[in-house]
Amino acid sequence: MSNISSLPKALQSLVEQLSRLPGVGKRSAERLALALLQWPDEHLGRLAEDLRLLHERIKSCRCCGNYSEQELCPLCSSSSRRRELLCVVESAVQISVIERSQAFQGLYHVLGGKLSPLNGKGPQDLRIKELAERLDQGGIAELIIATSPDMEGEATAHYLAEEFAHLPITISRIASGIPAGADLSHADAATLGLAMHGRRNMKHGEAQSGEEQLGYVR
Ligand SMILES: [Zn+2]
Repeated sequence: MSNISSLPKALQSLVEQLSRLPGVGKRSAERLALALLQWPDEHLGRLAEDLRLLHERIKSCRCCGNYSEQELCPLCSSSSRRRELLCVVESAVQISVIERSQAFQGLYHVLGGKLSPLNGKGPQDLRIKELAERLDQGGIAELIIATSPDMEGEATAHYLAEEFAHLPITISRIASGIPAGADLSHADAATLGLAMHGRRNMKHGEAQSGEEQLGYVR
């Protein structure tokens, strides 16, 4: 294994940038940088352009907070989604995981994190006001809270359940099929699908068949 310091400065700099990515250590970053060095200029140019325009092209959906190139994301503007079901997630990344599971046909709401008093993150730092506005508009029958099964995710779920307890809607929590403490961004689609189907009603504490609620069982 070559030492990073033996690389030319430009490559060292690239290795440093790549190693900021999640799951990429210095060694992998070096391998990636050397692989990029073999790419033709045309491909490197396209990558550079994609990176340069990333923030300009990808915005937050005005309604749900999902990543989107339009003002409204494809899910919010779709006519085939079940608009009476609203699933609350911490980050937009989790939407694509749930979508891959194909266990949910409703709409989403991205909170932009979870309650974390130790890190100074309170309710006002999350998109809870926007969620309240969406619920106030009516038409939503069930709010499904899919925050992570760690301490902060659970605290956030309970906060939301209390905050909206007065509304005539079902408030449910995805099942704990996901290992406690797991970050939902890295959960596999099958696990998340099971968690979605086995969700529980938070208002009464009883288990409810998600499949029944989703209308699969008639
Ligand atoms: Zn959207």
